[in-house]
Amino acid sequence: MISKTLLSFAVGILVSLASTLNAVAEDGPAKRLFGSQSLPSLGAPQSTGFYAKGCLAGGVALPVDGPAWQVMRLSRNRNWGHPHMIALLERLARDASAKDGWPGLLVGDISQPRGGPMLTGHASHQVGLDADIWLTPMPKRRFTNQERETVEAKSMLQGDTLFVDPDKWSASRTALLKRAASYPEVERIFVHPGIKKKLCDSVQGDRSWLNKVRPYWGHYYHFHVRIKCQPGSPECKAQEPTGTDDGCGKPLAWWFTDEPWKKAPPPKNPVKPKVMMLSDLPKLCAQILNAPGPKSVEEVTLGVGAKVPQASTDTSQDFPEDVPVPGQKP
Ligand SMILES: [Zn+2]
Repeated sequence: MISKTLLSFAVGILVSLASTLNAVAEDGPAKRLFGSQSLPSLGAPQSTGFYAKGCLAGGVALPVDGPAWQVMRLSRNRNWGHPHMIALLERLARDASAKDGWPGLLVGDISQPRGGPMLTGHASHQVGLDADIWLTPMPKRRFTNQERETVEAKSMLQGDTLFVDPDKWSASRTALLKRAASYPEVERIFVHPGIKKKLCDSVQGDRSWLNKVRPYWGHYYHFHVRIKCQPGSPECKAQEPTGTDDGCGKPLAWWFTDEPWKKAPPPKNPVKPKVMMLSDLPKLCAQILNAPGPKSVEEVTLGVGAKVPQASTDTSQDFPEDVPVPGQKP
């Protein structure tokens, strides 16, 4: 009798041990595995793989409030990135508000705590080196958490067209993009083709920075900053260099043809789109997924952190229609 109980006890332990070991090695859809991580892995920061197929170790959080920024959509828990990406965002926020007349950044998605594919949106943003920033200026007051979920960014386009609405665009937005492009670690900035065209048509003097500003679908209410693979990330896969051209000629003209916008005809033999599995990512990503994390978010938040100013309810000055820059025309 006793031995039987003991035996079943031992078997129980073995079974649970086996399933624990199994869980560590188990494959699965990468977006589910990475999308359920609430904290980063500890250790040296490292981006592994490509912007659209990889993961991040040693990520840090951008504080949800800073002197010149506010993080939006907090429920998504995507305010994580490589420490150099987070530091760059803090610097851009400060520089833009001090020097460009831009009141502050509303920051959208950066990456998940351990990077990787996401359950919703974005093919890239997987290695902690991409960030979305709204083209809507930060209001003077602090948004409540609820507002950060519901406030919508404004499109810069004129109705359904591919062109920027001149009443919505401003010199301060041009200055903000120029500022972002000015940092050597920034390799690309994605904007809607209409915004690229607006810059091509209006920027005077130094136009070399336009090279980094690349037209892409979407990106009419926000822009996307991508930085280079950072030192200490030997398995980070760099993107092709952008060359030196301002990109205002032929490549931009293509965006104003029908080709980029026509719907693809339905395939003759429809196949279910392949889900990216953990095993499709660089090998290191399985280790990063299972590596120990910090005890709290505070431990891995870079910069200002803890002090969160009281959210005010005064909405009267939320979004000044235009944010003027002295001496500049849009
Ligand atoms: Zn983006």
